[in-house]
Amino acid sequence: MSLTKDLTLLSDRINALSESQTLAMSKKSRELAAKGHQVINLSIGEPDFQTPQHIKDAAKKAIDEGFSFYTPVSGILELRQAIADKLRKENNIDWKADNIVVSTGAKQSLANALMCLVNPGDEVIIFSPYWVSYSEMVKLAEGETVLLEGPFENDFKVTADQLEKAITPRTKVVMYSSPSNPTGSVFTEKELREIAEVLAKHENIFVIADEIYEYINYEPNYFSLGSIPSIKERVITINGMSKGFAMTGWRVGYMAAAKWIADACDKLQGQITSGTCSISQKAAVAAVKGDMKPTQDMAKAYLRRRDLVLGLLKEIPGIRTFTPKGAFYVFPEVNDYFGKTDGETTIHTADDLCMYILNKVYVSLVTGEAFGAPNCIRISYAASDENLTEALRRMKDALAQLH
Ligand code: PMP
Ligand code: GLU
Repeated sequence: MSLTKDLTLLSDRINALSESQTLAMSKKSRELAAKGHQVINLSIGEPDFQTPQHIKDAAKKAIDEGFSFYTPVSGILELRQAIADKLRKENNIDWKADNIVVSTGAKQSLANALMCLVNPGDEVIIFSPYWVSYSEMVKLAEGETVLLEGPFENDFKVTADQLEKAITPRTKVVMYSSPSNPTGSVFTEKELREIAEVLAKHENIFVIADEIYEYINYEPNYFSLGSIPSIKERVITINGMSKGFAMTGWRVGYMAAAKWIADACDKLQGQITSGTCSISQKAAVAAVKGDMKPTQDMAKAYLRRRDLVLGLLKEIPGIRTFTPKGAFYVFPEVNDYFGKTDGETTIHTADDLCMYILNKVYVSLVTGEAFGAPNCIRISYAASDENLTEALRRMKDALAQLH
């Protein structure tokens, strides 16, 4: 027996965990590209823009000035203060620097929050369709995921009524993203106030509000659940630099929460990763305090691309979608193609359809199954107009061959 290959020697914890489907599809498309195929990758949700120049300059300055030491675990005060100011001004969330924990991406902030709040057997209600990593993080925290499905007719958004019915004495956390990955839906202020009314009646339930796509929002206003006083103490607001400032690789995210929760996350992070990269933190200060024009320009470009993709999708029969109000995803229903074949491959599921499109015309998408919506596929339009046009043309050709 080769010890190196005996997976049973790995922990139950890791064996129970699924690989991230978004990252797995990107890996597959890189492998096909390495073999010389002209792959268009619309699977990863990652801005294709460069980080704005003033942010890069701040990082260069930090390097030159020797800002190379460990920082406080929860982040440098300058950054936490800048984030607290931003939250007060833009989101009407009144927390101090002490309530902010900066982490290695919003991903770590989400994991910190779940690890600090969830005990084995606690139920975590996740609004579905949901971002792939949520349920896996709940698993790591030994919680039980309860998926609450938003209806297609309501742009996949869960209603307050649905939430009320799903709450049990074991419910510990409710979590969602708005703008949503993968659907692009955005909760309105009215919808969030209705949800808050339900939560106000349940004093022991916490909410993780993932606002990472806040700046990629095509609606005139953005409303944060954490601004509602009756539940403020129980809302953990998650955000970060990755999407709005095109800084995915810099790895800066944060949470804003009641101090005792922030302190718990600081303690956890202090034992696992410590503070995130010192240089990235200086860059993040420039992002949060700096000129928002590059961010607004990127959002305008995403909006144009959304309309481009929706227009091209209309030309493909058997695809049903609504107009997403934010993020950079379109999440159409494609189940009309289930049961069809090109003579060689038969499509039974959204997984099959994504693999068919990848192998046939080299366009990489993510199956809706990864997000709790087995009739859907996710198309990321964080790509150039040219690539989007070409990808949709290829998809149309490939789908036309299915009968
Ligand atoms: N939340 C959502 C909904 C996301 O789509 C992402 C993107 N990966 C993240 C959190 C994590 O972002 P990051 O760790 O890059 O800050
Ligand atoms: N949030 C992005 C996505 O959904 C990045 C990939 C990831 O971290 O999973 O594609």
